Amino acid sequence: MNPMKETLQSGLTRLQLTLTDEQVEKLAAFGRAVVEKNKVMNLTAITQPEAVAELHLLDSLTLCRVLPLQGKSVLDVGTGAGFPGVPLKIAEPSIRLTLLDSLQKRMNWLQNEALPALEIPVRFLTGRAEDFAAANRGHFDVVTSRAVARLNLLCELCLPYVHTGGYFLAMKGAETDTELKEARRAIQLLGGAYERTERFSIGGAEHRVIVIHKTAPTPEQYPRPFARMKQKPL
Ligand code: SAM
Repeated sequence: MNPMKETLQSGLTRLQLTLTDEQVEKLAAFGRAVVEKNKVMNLTAITQPEAVAELHLLDSLTLCRVLPLQGKSVLDVGTGAGFPGVPLKIAEPSIRLTLLDSLQKRMNWLQNEALPALEIPVRFLTGRAEDFAAANRGHFDVVTSRAVARLNLLCELCLPYVHTGGYFLAMKGAETDTELKEARRAIQLLGGAYERTERFSIGGAEHRVIVIHKTAPTPEQYPRPFARMKQKPL
């Protein structure tokens, strides 16, 4: 077995996730595509196949342990090279996945090369999260985001897209206490309620997923323009 598949298999066992051989092969193929394209386009600082398997693919799949995702509409905000959205779609093909990012080059690669080659059907929104919100308010069961912004800003970017009753899953490192405290007011103003934090061991470090339940519609004035958000976080 190759190193990427070996890391994937042992990580899936650790996460207690069962995938078919075909799904594991598809995950590995996506990981290989990222490693290859990264030689000519800046996609990620992680280049070793085992590290891509652990820190990108398996890390993304932790979300399968947080919520049942079968049949859900999922939006991945600031997806970059497709994380966590693409591994989730491979592991749970019934997801209706939308990827959103403002970086045209990465989105073109996903849309025109990587995902068609793997026959992974996905919808794309290329542009800034704050600009697409008006046309997509409350459209998604689940919104995900990893490594995009601090939680108070991230909530303003992501919560407007979640319908009442849905969830926002923010993937973070081990230091979330201050961020969470700082974001409490924003979560409440935007119609959310902090539910819980899930912890996973990934590559020897603790990774956390902050689970926010959408309990009321987000007031129309949010999200504000990004400059305003940064200048005056909620
Ligand atoms: N989520 C991916 C991951 O974890 O590997 C990519 C993380 S990368 C550090 C942050 C990504 O967020 C970039 O691709 C950037 O273009 C995107 N991004 C940041 N702010 C954004 C915004 N307001 N709207 C859309 N995309 C945004």
